[in-house]
Amino acid sequence: MTREPEGRRGAPVRPRVASRPSAREQQRSARGLAVVVALLTVALIGGAGALALLVSAPRAAAPGAPAAPGVLQEPDAPPPPPEPEPALDERAAGLALDPSAQTDWRLDGTGEKTVYLTFDDGPSDNTPRVLDVLDRYGVKATFFVTGHEPDKRGYIRDAYERGHSIGLHTMTHDYAQVYASEDAFFGDLDQVGQVVKEQIGFVPYLTRFPGGASNTVSANYCPGIMSALVSDLPARGYQFYDWNVSSGDAAGTNVDVEKIVQSSCVEGYTNVMLLFHDSSTKDTTPDALPRIIEFYQQRGYRFEPITREGFVCHHGVNN
Ligand SMILES: [Zn+2]
Repeated sequence: MTREPEGRRGAPVRPRVASRPSAREQQRSARGLAVVVALLTVALIGGAGALALLVSAPRAAAPGAPAAPGVLQEPDAPPPPPEPEPALDERAAGLALDPSAQTDWRLDGTGEKTVYLTFDDGPSDNTPRVLDVLDRYGVKATFFVTGHEPDKRGYIRDAYERGHSIGLHTMTHDYAQVYASEDAFFGDLDQVGQVVKEQIGFVPYLTRFPGGASNTVSANYCPGIMSALVSDLPARGYQFYDWNVSSGDAAGTNVDVEKIVQSSCVEGYTNVMLLFHDSSTKDTTPDALPRIIEFYQQRGYRFEPITREGFVCHHGVNN
């Protein structure tokens, strides 16, 4: 499309023709011009001298103080512009919290035999042990992390960079605190969200409730809070993920490997959302993983990290 020429549309534009100045007028304007040039030269020389004097004069004003009238002050360095949020790559953008994202959540499953290995309550020194087993088998998983053990938070980045999804579990995991009120819940979630953002550059959309959406312990602190959260959490752009198979590794400290394997290897589900823990008291979980992965591999399952395209597992709500 061509641009409309500026000016009133439709009005004929006639070039302006200046009448020719007479010889006398030309002479007068030449004289005027000479005077103006002379005056300008004097002004410039004088100004430059004054400027040199001012610049070499000692500065009385402290840096940052307003300049006294007539005193030339070097301008302070402008404040650095706020750091722009770096653009997210495609994988990060898919996992980032985005309340405007329209996602077709697969609550009924994907129809393909898939295992979603999920690890709660880390990171801890068991996290790199889990990561090494996953790498050995070339499978991807999901870590729902806490704010515990600040010196282990680098494992969150490590897990993400090795291809696993990162979700938010809770900052404190203190039920009395997390489920005191909706405000308390979202305050806790925001905190762990920032912990994760420091490691991987964005706040993920995926979350897991402490105790799952079906927990009843929250009723001790705030009756009805789970019923409210299961709708308010998605309204803020998050999704929550429960599980349909539990490894049973939360039943105690260092549960027997055989028991974890027995609980984890279940026939009959097309989509398996499998709950593990990679906290510091779960030393046997990484040891049980190889047999569990092999069980599902032998039955034709794929292993996927949680994404927006994957299975969403929800428990029924009891509070
Ligand atoms: Zn937990």
